[in-house]
Amino acid sequence: MAICGCGAQTTRIHSVMAVGDRLIPEGERKEICPNCCPEFFAEAFAAPSDRKVWDEAAAMPELYHLKPDGSLELNDSPKGDLMAKMGHDADLEAAIAWKRANRRTTPMTEDEIKARDAEMRPVIQALIKDTEEQVKGDRDYTENLIENMLRQERAKELVQ
Ligand SMILES: [Zn+2]
Repeated sequence: MAICGCGAQTTRIHSVMAVGDRLIPEGERKEICPNCCPEFFAEAFAAPSDRKVWDEAAAMPELYHLKPDGSLELNDSPKGDLMAKMGHDADLEAAIAWKRANRRTTPMTEDEIKARDAEMRPVIQALIKDTEEQVKGDRDYTENLIENMLRQERAKELVQ
């Protein structure tokens, strides 16, 4: 609550800083409220929740220019930023070009196959073992769960 110059208590107060183009000197400025100047407050008060969502062209007009047909178009610089954000990746394109240029086109030799087999076989065996242990663990858990449920059912039947 604030107290207006007219003496009314109010939640809405406005300091009049200028009359037309002329700035009112400090000390001579006047406060108005809905009590003493209702016509000034006739317009609906915009609470934060009343605020509209602005489209980008209205909020940042400097990013746009008007086309001859009257529509708005994004300027080149933000358009470039946008294209960069949309996934133009120079590193990736260079990597793809390198891979195309250096792609292997001859089959592996027997020695290369043996070396790769020796390298990867233990890794794949460990993966298979892990998966089997996971499956066994899941099966044990489910069996234990079912046994517990059956035990609880039997206990309920005994109580009744
Ligand atoms: Zn007032």
